[in-house]
Amino acid sequence: MNYKDNIKKSRFWNQSIKLIVNTSSYGIPYKMRVHHRAHQLAINPPLLVDIEGTNVCNAKCIMCPHPKMKREKGIMEWELFKKIVDDCVYLEVPEVSLNGFGEPLLDSLLIDRIKYLKKSGIPIVRIYTNAGLLKERIAEELIHSGLDSINTCIDGVTKDVFERIRPGLDFDIVEKNVQEFIRLRNKMGKKKPEVFIGFLRLAENKAEWNAFVNRWSPVADGIYRAIPSNWANSVKLTPILIDDFRYQKGYYKSPCIFLWKMISIQYNGDVALCCRDYEGKFILGNLQESNLKDIWHSKKLKTARQFHLDGNIERVSLCANCSSPDSMSPTIWWRV
Ligand code: SF4
Repeated sequence: MNYKDNIKKSRFWNQSIKLIVNTSSYGIPYKMRVHHRAHQLAINPPLLVDIEGTNVCNAKCIMCPHPKMKREKGIMEWELFKKIVDDCVYLEVPEVSLNGFGEPLLDSLLIDRIKYLKKSGIPIVRIYTNAGLLKERIAEELIHSGLDSINTCIDGVTKDVFERIRPGLDFDIVEKNVQEFIRLRNKMGKKKPEVFIGFLRLAENKAEWNAFVNRWSPVADGIYRAIPSNWANSVKLTPILIDDFRYQKGYYKSPCIFLWKMISIQYNGDVALCCRDYEGKFILGNLQESNLKDIWHSKKLKTARQFHLDGNIERVSLCANCSSPDSMSPTIWWRV
């Protein structure tokens, strides 16, 4: 099956799913699933741990609050990193992403971190990069490092649109870096790191999705379209983006999956409530003094989860006006 057939198939499934979740009774079994699964996830280790190697970035993307972040900038110290990885190993965490609120290619310890994670037995290690610095030397090191996947976003097929969305990055360089990375990996006879390319839905690139699909589907290991977040109400989103994705009938605002799925660790060891807490306003603890297991089962996190389960999301200050619960797929809890 070629990529065009795959796209047709996924459109068919999306339409079918939309019909099902729009029935007025869909919310009842879905709510039961949420409560059942939430209980299981809370007693198990996190499915994903984000480790912020650095919170320095080289871009000023329009949908990202990084330019206004007041948190001090830095790089995670090696000893702290090792301690966190050991915590992950102890808990048997299946996936680690070397990301937080910065560009991982600006982390001078990135390659050593990936190697340490893989050597320690973490099954999946990935990075999200803007690819502006994905030059040949680091590309080769990444391919040899054991990294499982690279995610990037090229949300435009024209220079003008891309650079309006992602100031600080050069469209030609980003495209070339990604193409060359895939070419080099293939030439080296490697299947990893897999390369996934995303497209954030914005008013600026509305007309470019189809061209994006045609350009990147045949080249990348996977493509996806995502809805931007308002980062716990820190960035303004055009209402059309949210309305587009909200299923109108039988709508049940489910708890935010992030609270049961992942842990976000900032470069100084602070554990934030979720990956949207870029400023570290809701800190669950610090891994210099505590461990991952205790934080995952902490009273603070349990209380936040309970507010979400009870339909009182707004009682968690950070979550009160966050777009994430609204923009999550209404089938997400079936899939975790
Ligand atoms: S709803 Fe709360 S937990 Fe979920 S992404 Fe927003 S701020 Fe994070």
